[in-house]
Amino acid sequence: MDQPTKVSLTAKVLMGMALGIIVGLFINYTGLNAPGSFINVYIVDGLFQVVGKMFVNALKMLVVPLVLFSLICGVCGIGNLNTLGRVGVKSFALYILTTAVAIATAILFAVTAGIGQGMQASTDSSFSGKEAPPLTDVFINIIPTNPIAAMVNGEMLQVIFFAILVGISILMVGKKARSFIEGAEIGNEVMMKMVTIVMAVAPYAVFALIAKAMAELGFDLLKVLIGYVLVLVLALLFHLFITLMVTLKVFSGLSPMRFISKIRNVQVFAFSTASSNATIPVTMRTVTERLGVNNSVASFTVPFGATINMDGTAMMQGVATVFIANIYGVELGMSGYLTVIAMAVLASIGTAGVPGVGLVMLSMVFAQVGLPIEGIGLILGVDRLLDMMRTAVNVSGDAVVSTIVAKSEGKLDLDVYNDPDAGLTTGDIVLDEEVERELAEVVTATHSRLE
Ligand code: ASP
Repeated sequence: MDQPTKVSLTAKVLMGMALGIIVGLFINYTGLNAPGSFINVYIVDGLFQVVGKMFVNALKMLVVPLVLFSLICGVCGIGNLNTLGRVGVKSFALYILTTAVAIATAILFAVTAGIGQGMQASTDSSFSGKEAPPLTDVFINIIPTNPIAAMVNGEMLQVIFFAILVGISILMVGKKARSFIEGAEIGNEVMMKMVTIVMAVAPYAVFALIAKAMAELGFDLLKVLIGYVLVLVLALLFHLFITLMVTLKVFSGLSPMRFISKIRNVQVFAFSTASSNATIPVTMRTVTERLGVNNSVASFTVPFGATINMDGTAMMQGVATVFIANIYGVELGMSGYLTVIAMAVLASIGTAGVPGVGLVMLSMVFAQVGLPIEGIGLILGVDRLLDMMRTAVNVSGDAVVSTIVAKSEGKLDLDVYNDPDAGLTTGDIVLDEEVERELAEVVTATHSRLE
């Protein structure tokens, strides 16, 4: 167990974040980040970028093997196809429901505030939209033609589908497949240890990622778009602290306060990386070890949520639609808003949680309701910061739904949930002395045999 006197990893990561904000804003404010300057070339685009990107790469490196192993174990752990089906249906329904409520809330906030009214359209026409993939393709593409290619390309829905099938087939084979299950379990454990290793450098990496983002923040743009930014931030906070927490309380009866205090580091990782997908290892670890969700549920709900659940992103689309419609003087009306809600929910199913994907989804929504795609150019400049914020909301939704589903299936360890220190780590990499001794013996034995 960890020494309680030591500083926890979460505290270190939060310190890294706070320092990153201070240093980044200082660089931005003093103009030290001018293009070509020493700070710009060697620090912001040099050191910060290298450290940050290396860390995000390391997180992404873990995602596919972690999801594969833990989901195979998860399916075998559930051991019952009916339960598996229920977990799937419940989490899907909750993900869709929360996303729809999120975007409806966002539209309500934006319409009430009347953002964008009276503003002139001066667009950066460099943004070109994307066609919405037909819904039929979304379903067809869940099934990989080549599972290895799905893993190579990080196609999460396909990886999930394949892993579930492998798990079910193992169950059908029965006893003979025992060593396969054991192998998957060891694989899962090894991957979780790898998460620990990567997380050990998180405080520095979070510092670098956030300092870079803040140093590059366009304050002038923020001022121009203050209405849009403020309404969206308020709507996101409302969703995070009210809607999601009420949902948690109503569906599970669990304490929202405890929940919020335990998922802080997931939110910080999502904020710094702006990617739900890259945050999967941290979300998985937190919901299982800090919140007590059994791996058999979390291994499915977390990667599934990172792919299809994007409450924060849907909210951005709601606020942006109202904002741009007002600027261009387009009257959307009730049916327009309903279309926006439906489109945003569907778009979130078909697109993965990676940085900036929200803007691509927005272009699909605009195309559907007849708003000019160039309008997106208006909000492009502030999108990075908002992407960070909405990703933190996206992953919070994944954790809420995982907890609710686990509780309803009797797969939540209440002792872990209620223990404020459960799963806290210091981030130190400790090697088990006994294991080290055993390994040393194996190595010595091999050497003497070879001599
Ligand atoms: N970055 C978001 C996520 O990974 C998606 C987006 O809003 O662009 O969840």
